[in-house]
Amino acid sequence: MSDIIRLLPDSVANQIAAGEVIQRPASAVKELLENAVDAGAGHIELIVKDAGKTLLQVIDNGCGMSATDARMSFERHATSKIKEAADLFRIHTLGFRGEALASIAAIAQVEVKTRRMEDELGTHLVIEGSVVKSQQPCACTAGTSFLIKNLFFNVPARRNFLKSDAAEMRHILEEFQRVALVNPQIAFSCHSNGKVLFQLPAANLKQRIINLMGSGFQEKLIPVNQDSNVVKISGYAGKPESAKKTKGEQYFFANNRFIRHPYLNHAVEDAFSDLLPEGYFPSYFIYLDVDPSKIDINIHPTKTEVNFLDHQVIYSMLRSAVRQAIGKFSFSSTLDFEAEKSFDTYFPKDRPVVAPGIHINPEYNPFVKKQQAELKLTAPLQQQDNTDWEKLYDFARNDHPSDQSGAKSLTIDADFDSEPLSRGFMQFQNKYIVSRVKSGLMIIDQQAAHERVLYERMLEKIEQQKASSQQQLFPQTVNLSAPDAELIRELLEEFSLFGFQIEHFGQNSYIIRGIPADLVDENIQTLIENVLENFKNNQLGLKVDKKINLTRAMARNMAVKPGKVLMPEEMQSLVDDLFSCQVPNVSPSGKTIIVTIQADEIEKRFGN
Ligand code: ADP
Ligand code: MG
Repeated sequence: MSDIIRLLPDSVANQIAAGEVIQRPASAVKELLENAVDAGAGHIELIVKDAGKTLLQVIDNGCGMSATDARMSFERHATSKIKEAADLFRIHTLGFRGEALASIAAIAQVEVKTRRMEDELGTHLVIEGSVVKSQQPCACTAGTSFLIKNLFFNVPARRNFLKSDAAEMRHILEEFQRVALVNPQIAFSCHSNGKVLFQLPAANLKQRIINLMGSGFQEKLIPVNQDSNVVKISGYAGKPESAKKTKGEQYFFANNRFIRHPYLNHAVEDAFSDLLPEGYFPSYFIYLDVDPSKIDINIHPTKTEVNFLDHQVIYSMLRSAVRQAIGKFSFSSTLDFEAEKSFDTYFPKDRPVVAPGIHINPEYNPFVKKQQAELKLTAPLQQQDNTDWEKLYDFARNDHPSDQSGAKSLTIDADFDSEPLSRGFMQFQNKYIVSRVKSGLMIIDQQAAHERVLYERMLEKIEQQKASSQQQLFPQTVNLSAPDAELIRELLEEFSLFGFQIEHFGQNSYIIRGIPADLVDENIQTLIENVLENFKNNQLGLKVDKKINLTRAMARNMAVKPGKVLMPEEMQSLVDDLFSCQVPNVSPSGKTIIVTIQADEIEKRFGN
């Protein structure tokens, strides 16, 4: 029998390789855009017809190619970017293998026009299914234009597997956005079926994000920065109130290449965890610069997965960078009225925390500077006259005369203001506190509000280890279910931070020798059971810090419940306390605390 092994012809080998590199029109877009970036272009234009199934064109004003290079660029493993194997590990964009153009040419009809600045004439090259159809000198502008027609014309199986135009176009735009987000200094445009989708001037990163994602981002971006010898973190996160119910705008770039990284994503979401309602996802555009030798490179150009050698360190740095950024924003937003007209951030302008140069704990404790923090737990809410909650609203009109935007700033009626003794809180359904504000009616959920107040105070106390304990004259024994007994054993240290002194008392029993000093009238057994129950529920979602989780559970259980009748001065005090919180509008468990009904809405209802 004769030998049966044969070498595949190049065109077949290329087609096979193409299947790996070019899976859909978007993959070709990515390769062409990246090549244009590598060519040093200052302007890149993407033109698409029928989601790239009919035509894709990328035009750049980069370095261009000589006639020989133009021809060479379509050979497999032809690249000007790698000279030896070691280069593979040095390169930053990780995508070079010299395979993209060969792959594209294997499965499409390609036309290139390219000219180097220094040449008088450029080159016009036509390739179809890896076969050069023509190569001629031509007059063209400096730079390169790649035209890809009828992608997969010779691989019908692949072509048939393409999704709808809308779906393929989404993939293309994703690639376009990712490249645009790492190259804000380059102008980009994108046309689809004759319509302009994007026209992005060269800009700084913030402006690029806004141009790409919409002007709604103008006031929503908080800078995130952290430099260390392991990783340099930069970029932006969206303010908590810009969070979405979908995971849409979450971008990580490692050494300027888009990556997916669920583990690091968790670090960011965790940093936001007590600020977002359940089911909401923060937006972010975060750039990680790492020594390329510390990345486990998967050099496959279509893969977006990478591994960092120091991933745990990067995780905690990232989390702390984002927390710090949010913390800084919470403080500075009290000053930045220009940018902050939104409902969510009506902090008082005269709060002591706004003093510039404030110490910010890199481990993010947004509550360090709050004054008058008596841990009251369920003790009756008392009148406090050192805070005047109305003033907290009273910034937009008076302090910011240029506010003509009709933003929903909350200011108090002048006549209302002059009657300090009858501020007129009304309790509704023993559940809500209703009051009049200038812009309409404000309704506060009493339980959610109290939960927020307790949470911030307790967190402050435990962070500063200041919670005090009262010894029990008659220590009480609590009997728990086996799983709860196991859980509390793990949490003894955290419980002690709140002022609990709990000891194991055989089997599933614990003896409570001390309780938080301010805890009154609570059935300890029920309280502990409920707190543990809440703790477990909180843990089902994102993994949160044990201390924070426990604080949340405690706050939830100690907050006044619906059905509790509140005296006017109790309502007053609760509202005052609420507005001295860092985040007065969302409870730690993500519930809305405040709803306002605008005056014009009421007018409308009456047909006035
Ligand atoms: P790689 O980008 O990995 O080097 P490609 O197949 O994408 O491989 O491109 C091959 C070569 O063609 C590049 O190394 C580059 O020298 C040249 N090239 C591709 N696109 C352009 C362009 N738009 N402008 C100038 N040169 C280009
Ligand atoms: Mg390339």
